[in-house]
Amino acid sequence: MLVQVGEEERRRRERASVHTEEEAEGKTVFPSVRRLHERISDLERRAAREADPARRMLLEERARRLKSRRFRRIRDVVARVAEEIIELAGQNNAAIVIDVMDGKTYIARKQSGEGGVKKHLYDGLGQLRKGLKKLAKWYGLQYREVRLYSAICPRCGAKMEEEKRIMRCPACGFSDHRDNIPLLWAKRRYWEILRKQPAFSSLVAITLLTS
Ligand SMILES: [Zn+2]
Repeated sequence: MLVQVGEEERRRRERASVHTEEEAEGKTVFPSVRRLHERISDLERRAAREADPARRMLLEERARRLKSRRFRRIRDVVARVAEEIIELAGQNNAAIVIDVMDGKTYIARKQSGEGGVKKHLYDGLGQLRKGLKKLAKWYGLQYREVRLYSAICPRCGAKMEEEKRIMRCPACGFSDHRDNIPLLWAKRRYWEILRKQPAFSSLVAITLLTS
């Protein structure tokens, strides 16, 4: 996930927190969720192997408690991120553009994680999308969900080549980080909205669930 805002706001965010796709993959925003997930999987494995019914119940109960903690933690992070994005959009009179993947890919990704750890992260992103939509409506902010290109050159439209997450256009030579390509497309596509509705002077583009 990536948030793009105006220059000044970007600098402020560099000092504060920046959301990247790595975080969406659970490497930094959800480290505690990942740890919780590992502990739950471990308890469940031990419960399945446990022959003694009383001890098995105890292990299952501990796993259940950790599961509700995991649920609450994801919910809290989602609520905080949604509020932060809405606040940014409000401060910058920005339109919010969400890059969503189609339902089939979403389900496949959700089921691909080791021991289902990704399921919870994708659930969290799904909740974030719903939360943002609701909040944007409430605060009267422009909100759009679209599929944005990550491998098509935003300058000339040619297919780009990737090397270590850096995209390069063989036709015009344009190059940028893979995470930035959908944002450039969001700007390009929503430039018209911004011109037609001068009330929205900038764009908060959030790419959710891009590969
Ligand atoms: Zn190009």
